[in-house]
Amino acid sequence: MNLILLGPPGAGKGTQAKNLEERRGLKQLSTGEMLRAAVAAGSEIGRKAKAIMDRGELVSDDIVVSIIADRLNQPDVAKGFILDGFPRNTAQAEALDRMLRSKNLKIDAVIEMKVNDEALIERITGRYTCAKCGKGYHDRFERPKQEGTCDVCGSHEFIRRPDDNEATVRDRLEVYNRQTAPLIDYYGRKGNLRTIDGMADIPDVRRQIEEVLDRA
Ligand code: AMP
Repeated sequence: MNLILLGPPGAGKGTQAKNLEERRGLKQLSTGEMLRAAVAAGSEIGRKAKAIMDRGELVSDDIVVSIIADRLNQPDVAKGFILDGFPRNTAQAEALDRMLRSKNLKIDAVIEMKVNDEALIERITGRYTCAKCGKGYHDRFERPKQEGTCDVCGSHEFIRRPDDNEATVRDRLEVYNRQTAPLIDYYGRKGNLRTIDGMADIPDVRRQIEEVLDRA
C-alpha cells in the first residue's frame, strides 16, 4: 500500500508515518528528513538546500524529485511507502504521477491531515528530539519522564530544528497555504483524497488513519 500524507508543517505527518512504518511495514519517505541528512553530511545537495530550508522556502523541484526517484528504485519500498512532505506543489505532484506510471505503481490513498494554523505554531515551536535516537518530545505536551534524559535511550542531548522558530514557521505555513494546499483539490479530483481531523490526539489520529487504510 502506498500513501501520501498531506498537511501543513506540524500536522503530525512524521509522527504518524513512523507509527505506520512500525505497524504496517511501510517505508516513510520524508524529503525533509532526507534533506536534513544531506545538510548534516555536507553534501552538494545539502549545501544547496540549507539556506533555503532555514528560510522556510521550498528547495528546487529538481532536487526533491530526483531524491524521490532514487528512493523509489530501492528494494525497501516494495512493501509500500508513505510520502511525508512530498509532493509540495503541483509540479512535484505531476512529476510523481509520471514516476509512478513508469514504474507501474499507484497511490492507494492521499490522507489530508486538517489542523488550524495557531495550534501548529505552538506544536512546532515547542518540539525537539533526542540527538541520539530521534525520539520526539515537546516543551508542553510531552516532556521526558526524567527532565533532561531521553525516555528511550537515556541520552542527555536534545536538538531543535533551526527552522522550528516562530518567524520561520509562519513563513512555512504561508508557503504551505500558497503552494501545497492546492494539492488538496488536485487529489480530490483524482478521487483518492481522504480528510481526517489532525487536531485530535495522536492515538485518535492513528485510529482515523487506520480506518482510511482498512477501506482503501
Ligand atoms: P519538512 O521536514 O517536511 O518540514 O521539510 C523541511 C524543509 O525541507 C522544508 O521547509 C523545505 O525547505 C524542504 N523540503 C522538504 N520537502 C520538500 C519538498 N517536497 N519540496 C521542496 N522543499 C522541501
